[in-house]
Amino acid sequence: MNAADTARAGGPGEAVWCDRCGESLAGGAPHPACAAARDLEPPRFCPRCRRRMKVQVLPQGWSAACVEHGVLTS
Ligand SMILES: [Zn+2]
Ligand SMILES: [Zn+2]
Repeated sequence: MNAADTARAGGPGEAVWCDRCGESLAGGAPHPACAAARDLEPPRFCPRCRRRMKVQVLPQGWSAACVEHGVLTS
């Protein structure tokens, strides 16, 4: 059984934390500056649990791994 595997593509993940600055997104107001920066940068925080993700920059984009929620890619 592999937790990362079951989390990978499953279900509607709720993004409750800003994946760039790690602040709450509760209330539904996104962070315009973070959203703009995220067009260019990989995320730093898991949007679901706020853990710091292990980010790798790849030639074609990036991948960011949360120990709890698995890998996100651009
Ligand atoms: Zn933010
Ligand atoms: Zn996570």
